[in-house]
Amino acid sequence: MIPYGRQSIEQDDIDAVIKVLTSDFLTQGESVGEFEKKLAEYCGAKYAVVVSSGTAALHAAFFAIGLAEGDEFITSSMTFAATANAGLWQKGKPVFVDIDLETGNIDVEKIEEKITDKTKAIVPVDYTGRPADLEKIKQIADKHNLVVVEDACQALGAVYHGRKIGAISDLTVFSFHPVKSITTGEGGAILTNNGQYYKKMKSFITHGVTKGDFIGKVGGWQYDMVDLGLNYRLTDIACALGISQLKKIDTFLNKRIELVKIYNIAFENFTKIIIPKFDDKNNKSGWHLYVIRLNENNKKSRKQVFDELRDIGIGVQVHHTPVHTLTYYKNLGYTGAGLENTEKFYNSILSLPLYPNLTKEDQNKVIEKVKEIIV
Ligand SMILES: *Cc1c(COP(=O)(O)O)cnc(C)c1O
Repeated sequence: MIPYGRQSIEQDDIDAVIKVLTSDFLTQGESVGEFEKKLAEYCGAKYAVVVSSGTAALHAAFFAIGLAEGDEFITSSMTFAATANAGLWQKGKPVFVDIDLETGNIDVEKIEEKITDKTKAIVPVDYTGRPADLEKIKQIADKHNLVVVEDACQALGAVYHGRKIGAISDLTVFSFHPVKSITTGEGGAILTNNGQYYKKMKSFITHGVTKGDFIGKVGGWQYDMVDLGLNYRLTDIACALGISQLKKIDTFLNKRIELVKIYNIAFENFTKIIIPKFDDKNNKSGWHLYVIRLNENNKKSRKQVFDELRDIGIGVQVHHTPVHTLTYYKNLGYTGAGLENTEKFYNSILSLPLYPNLTKEDQNKVIEKVKEIIV
């Protein structure tokens, strides 16, 4: 099966991991700080906190902003469930806003009508790696005194209005799962320019424990706990892999862009589908996914197309099942009201294979079969 996404691991990655495996620290060693520093540098942010997954990163970000019972946060339903789930763990309530049909990103025109006196944050998702309209979102957030937590799990390396993402929103969250732009196996990070958020997150991901500044020192063994945290630490083994992978992020991204160009040219005159819009001078997607939309009046359904492509070894996928349609969310009372575009979009989408090491032969096979099967 040609997968829809996969990691690129080379000898230098393997060497970097082996080096840590034979060192003194498998966790809580020097690779952690080094990976954080390199991530912050790459994105032009002041601080980075690395954690054990993108989900943990979202949770830490929600903790840092003080999301709590009675608070609402605005996001889109066209995302992986983790975006909303992490907020639920902090007892916040996700409020879903419909998406823009062209990009799959939150429709910024529809955000303000959902803001109430309980709203604490706006949580845009950079769908497929394409940044949401971050400037407009920031304006709305400033006007209503809200925090922006950007779920950029799919978007490391993306550029918005000429600026690399990672330091545009108050907090920016990344994932290093193997299908994402770079990998640490499992892993994630939060970037911010805010020192208070940084401190909160550093404490949260290691049980809320602190070693410093408390009064009445008992002895060298003493520690204190000021916040209720968890163990969300990323190991040095993973960080070594991350440092090695990060060196290659731009190479990976350029390979993805080359493949996207080939797809876009091949499908330019193929009228059964709508292809994703390509980058422009000031905006660059992270190209995590290549999502096509099937026309409504095609002869074959999306399910038929999906099954037929899978049957011949092309690992297409659907990103994502809207969060509000999942049983857990339905049981919480969520419905599709006001999310018509999200549902329409969901019913038409299909992710084609896209990853740096996708071969010409495999991509040609995908193109040929897509054109043959979609009628
Ligand atoms: C991958 C992803 C996550 C979760 O990341 P994990 O590292 O798998 O926990 C969250 N949000 C979005 C949009 C994602 O794509």
